[in-house]
Amino acid sequence: MKDANCIFCKIANGEIPSRTVYEDEDFRAILDLGPATKGHTLILPKEHAANLYELPAELSAKVLPVAQKVGALLKEKLGCDGLNLVQNNGEVAGQTVMHFHLHVIPRYENDGQKILWNPTQPEGAALDEILAKIKG
Ligand code: AMP
Ligand code: ZN
Repeated sequence: MKDANCIFCKIANGEIPSRTVYEDEDFRAILDLGPATKGHTLILPKEHAANLYELPAELSAKVLPVAQKVGALLKEKLGCDGLNLVQNNGEVAGQTVMHFHLHVIPRYENDGQKILWNPTQPEGAALDEILAKIKG
């Protein structure tokens, strides 16, 4: 299924041109227009899925192998020193385009970027409570 109002559907399926670094039957990987670093790439499924919850299991199983290929390509061609995979779901998590995408962000020494969170220090009991909720 494609969504006629979804820009990433159009890009993934070649209806809107993009700077494609990798393509196969199920995915297109494109350069991000607002890159965090040189080579910041987005992996887009050709099928529409708004987020990870909606992505069919068959496709989610294929995403990481694509990320490995793209990551290897960026390392080989751009000589990055590291790599972050980022995948946002929902506005509260920073998702701005509601078509699943996996960010592949090459990292370079002194690239000035931070992809971090502020660690908290919960008591063990608080972690136990969360675990009980998750498993209950
Ligand atoms: P997110 O915040 O996880 O939804 O990421 C959306 C990403 O898509 C951002 O990094 C944008 O820079 C990028 N983006 C938005 N529109 C386009 C576009 N037409 N082509 C390439 N990248 C885009
Ligand atoms: Zn879409």
